[in-house]
Amino acid sequence: MKQLTLATVLTNPVSNGAQSQRKPSPPAYLDTRVTKSQRENKRTRSQRARERLRTKEHLTRLAVGLGEVELAHKIERCHSRLSVLTCGRHIARIIPNFTCEFRLCPDCGRRRSRKLQSKYLPAMRAFMLHNKVTPVHLVLTQTHRKENRKQSAKRIKDAFKRLHRNSFWNEYFKGGTWSLEFTKDKNGLHHTHLHIIGFRRKFFDIELLRGEWLTATGDSHVLHLKPIVDIAAGLREVVKYVSKPLDIRRFGADDLKEFLGLKNMRMFGTFGEFRDFCKDFEPSDNEGAAVGELESLARDLVEGCACPQCSEPLFDLRMSGKELPQFYEQAESSPPGKVGTSWN
Ligand SMILES: [Zn+2]
Ligand SMILES: [Zn+2]
Repeated sequence: MKQLTLATVLTNPVSNGAQSQRKPSPPAYLDTRVTKSQRENKRTRSQRARERLRTKEHLTRLAVGLGEVELAHKIERCHSRLSVLTCGRHIARIIPNFTCEFRLCPDCGRRRSRKLQSKYLPAMRAFMLHNKVTPVHLVLTQTHRKENRKQSAKRIKDAFKRLHRNSFWNEYFKGGTWSLEFTKDKNGLHHTHLHIIGFRRKFFDIELLRGEWLTATGDSHVLHLKPIVDIAAGLREVVKYVSKPLDIRRFGADDLKEFLGLKNMRMFGTFGEFRDFCKDFEPSDNEGAAVGELESLARDLVEGCACPQCSEPLFDLRMSGKELPQFYEQAESSPPGKVGTSWN
């Protein structure tokens, strides 16, 4: 049973044609960015791997242009050599030679996002169970002003602090997580949003919340709220913004420069009673297994183990990061056990 879960996530369910992919729940409340992420989900693993390579090349060029040679070198080295544990068709685990940990690096972003998920999901599940609260996804927005990314982020975070200090908020919410999302419009204005997973104590009138948000911001009452049916999917959605701040391929040198200035800015955090809960929370074996299954099961796999998806023996394949998209491509279109040999 566990193996099935692992397998489902580790390999792309779209391997036999993008059309068959099961759709994420429809974005009843949001705008084009959600549509865009859905489009991203529809792409195959090879397409996404290729996209990551292009993004990194773009970042490297920008870094060189800014004279940030060391950063450029680090991004270039990151995931440039891979040790891939595979049955030839499915990938159980990828171990990179080096990780740059740069916030905009798409490879490191994926890892960061997985780490956040395995850290917070067990706590969220336990918190919900102990407190009988239901999770909602709340998106708080603010008006657009001529300001830099740092100012824009500070403004919305300060407004949120005011909101969660007031009695209305505390009556209805028992805590949760927040994450920042940055986008930029055609006129170069920053759109900074806060994505909140809020643990709701009881129902409330959304208009009241709009009023409270208007009081907190001084000029914006725009927010979106939807219930979270599956907490794992809800968390995945909000950490996505942390791991992938915006469309980096449209980044110019100025954007990168500005981002380098944000080095220590927090993009994700917890608040309220959930925050205290996380401090003391130790997942039990069951809770840990329910969530950390991905990471821990994959970590236990070694050469010779059975592939979690097809039970063929796993073997270690060395390749360069640039070869990964092609490998995915072959794997996506091959019958079981037929890919590996040509890569040795
Ligand atoms: Zn990296
Ligand atoms: Zn397999």
